[in-house]
Amino acid sequence: MSEDCIFCQIVAGEIPSRTVYETDDVLAFLDANPLAPGHTLVIPKAHHEHVQDMPNDLASDVFAAMQRLVDPIESAVDADGSTVAFNNGEAAGQEVPHTHGHVVPRFEDDGSRPIHSIFGERPDLDDDELDDIAATIADGAE
Ligand code: 5GP
Ligand code: ZN
Repeated sequence: MSEDCIFCQIVAGEIPSRTVYETDDVLAFLDANPLAPGHTLVIPKAHHEHVQDMPNDLASDVFAAMQRLVDPIESAVDADGSTVAFNNGEAAGQEVPHTHGHVVPRFEDDGSRPIHSIFGERPDLDDDELDDIAATIADGAE
């Protein structure tokens, strides 16, 4: 547990939350300031700041919980779809430094937009640059 982490305090029961799903390693609860009815956060109980900091098994557990929750969340609020996403790192807008997945119900007429809409101008990358980037990522992922 990280002492001044809000989500660790929720896991410890020191801050109340509306829990919707729980395992030994994962907790899911309603977002206190929802972007849509049913907006749910899914977290590892152990404190890890970023997605990539979680051990593999735990990351799988978090994703499995998110996947399991999508249908119940959408049904509960009669949604037409959902945005399933992580803000990963401060630069990406992560405000709580305890990694958490968002499941945000979406509605045909909600006026909100896809994840693509959060990005501004797109980079103009030529084939060589794309090849280099792909090769560098592939090396790092080995
Ligand atoms: P982030 O911007 O870090 O991806 O999202 C943090 C989310 O946590 C926000 O949607 C915010 O509403 C939610 N949040 C912040 N503090 C609390 C809290 O104490 N309880 C709950 N349930 N959600 C919180
Ligand atoms: Zn924490």
